[in-house]
Amino acid sequence: MASVNSPLAGKVALVTGASSGIGEATAAALATAGAKVAVAARRADRLSALAGRIERAGGNALAIEADIASNGDIAAMIDKVVAQWGRLDILVNNAGIMLLSPAAEADLDDWRRMIELNLIGLMATTKAALPHLKAAKGHVVNVSSVAGRVANPGASGYAATKFGVVAFSESLRREVYADKVRVSVIEPGLVRTELGDHITNEQSKAGLDHRLATMEALTAEDIANAILYAVSQPPRVNVNEILIRPTDQER
Ligand code: NDP
Repeated sequence: MASVNSPLAGKVALVTGASSGIGEATAAALATAGAKVAVAARRADRLSALAGRIERAGGNALAIEADIASNGDIAAMIDKVVAQWGRLDILVNNAGIMLLSPAAEADLDDWRRMIELNLIGLMATTKAALPHLKAAKGHVVNVSSVAGRVANPGASGYAATKFGVVAFSESLRREVYADKVRVSVIEPGLVRTELGDHITNEQSKAGLDHRLATMEALTAEDIANAILYAVSQPPRVNVNEILIRPTDQER
């Protein structure tokens, strides 16, 4: 699959939340562009299937079962990537959950789970990867959301995590730019994936289903293309932020 002319030839990437949706599409796109790709999430069967598809197409893949809400799993995940390929150039922090509900009805455990994964997990993964990313003059891509820029009613807990991702990314950029480490934050609008499947608040779930039924949502590949664009630029170009909505989406 990869040739020396592939834009990411020789690069090693790690994509979290790669067992479905945006992460799966991004891992496939990075592999097609020539990167060796480690794919991490909890559903090991889905990761093995993805790694198999990448390898059958001539690429290099490594499936890593990891819970990004666990510090131990995060450390082991980074170690496995570096043990396998000796470096880490591109970290795509994509794993996330969206447990929508109005604040008054929120399940506190849902809020905690979102903060632990979407925010602390992303931050801890970045911290664990930073020594390797500095050594490689690498790139961190953090998947936030339009909800990290626009705080809509019914999404307060989720938006709090995604605003946090945007803030963390900008602080990080200013800490590591002198090491030639680039930081990009990706802010998708509505994408048709499994993300809404875990919402337990019936009204919130119905609202999301209605939006999906009445607009042409983005595809996971649309976001993978945006991430591929960001990581394929020459080293002098630091694409800091991509806000990408479906044409049909107002807010
Ligand atoms: P999916 O539900 O399809 O993918 C989520 C991924 O995260 C899965 O691979 C899942 O794998 C993984 N994940 C969930 N919990 C954990 C965990 N504890 N540890 C490791 N991995 C975990 O949804 P999307 O592809 O849509 O979501 C990807 C990212 O995009 C998220 O951060 C989301 O917030 C963001 N986003 C999505 C939008 C959309 O409209 N779909 C819009 C804006 C942003 P597994 O269950 O196997 O662990």
